[in-house]
Amino acid sequence: MSSNHDGKIIIVSGPSGVGKSTICREVVNRLDNVFLSVSATTRTKSESEVDGKDYWFLTRGEFEKRIEDGMFLEYAEVFGNLYGTPKDKTDKAIEDGKNVILEIDVQGARRTKQIYPDAEMVFILAPTHKDLAERLNGRARDGEKVVEERLSGASAEIAAAWQFYEHMVINDDLQQAVNEVIQIIQGNIGE
Ligand code: ADP
Ligand code: 5GP
Repeated sequence: MSSNHDGKIIIVSGPSGVGKSTICREVVNRLDNVFLSVSATTRTKSESEVDGKDYWFLTRGEFEKRIEDGMFLEYAEVFGNLYGTPKDKTDKAIEDGKNVILEIDVQGARRTKQIYPDAEMVFILAPTHKDLAERLNGRARDGEKVVEERLSGASAEIAAAWQFYEHMVINDDLQQAVNEVIQIIQGNIGE
C-alpha cells in the first residue's frame, strides 16, 4: 500500500558492543514517532535478554520457514547465526509515517538500501579498539570466545562501512552520539 509520509528508515550498524542498542533506546525515549524494530534471531538468548524485547528468539527451523514465507524485510547470517527484520511490523510503521530504526549488520544494511534508497545509513564507531573491547567485556553477556570472535570481526565491518555508510558517528560521549543520531533523523545533517 502506498502512502504519503514523512517517516524515514534509519539503519544503525556498528561492531558488536559499540553501543548501538544503548543509543537507539535513548533515541526512542527522546523522540516521538519512532519505531525501533525488534529483530528475529537464531542466536541463543542470554540471561539478561527478554524474548520479544531484545530479539524474537527462534529455532533455525522456525527462522527458515519465515524466510520461505517472505516474512523478512532482510536477513543475514552473522557470526554463524541468522538475524532478520520482521517485515509486517516495519511495513505497518512506515505506513503510519513513523521513523523506523533498524539495528542491523552491514549485509542487511546494503539489502535494505536497495529496497529503500532513501534510507539513512548510520555506522557507530567506538573511540578506540580498546574501548570497544572494554565495552564488550563489560557487558558480560558473551563468553570469552564470543567476545574474541566479535572483536576480530569488527575491523572488516568498519572497513566496509567507510565505503557504504552516509554517516559515521563516534560513540565516545553517549549523549553527544545520541544527539547526532537525532539530528540525522531530523534531517539536520547532510551526507
Ligand atoms: P551493541 O548494541 O552495539 O552491541 P550495547 O548498547 O549493548 O552495544 O553496549 C555495550 C556496552 O557499552 C553496554 O554495557 C553499554 O552500557 C556500554 N556503552 C554504550 N555506550 C557507551 C559510551 N558512550 N561510553 C561507555 N560505555 C558505553
Ligand atoms: P548481537 O548478537 O550482538 O545482538 O548482534 C550481532 C550482529 O547482528 C550485530 O551486528 C547486529 O547489528 C546484527 N543484527 C541484529 N539484528 C539484525 C537483523 O535483523 N538483520 C541483520 N542483517 N543483522 C542484524
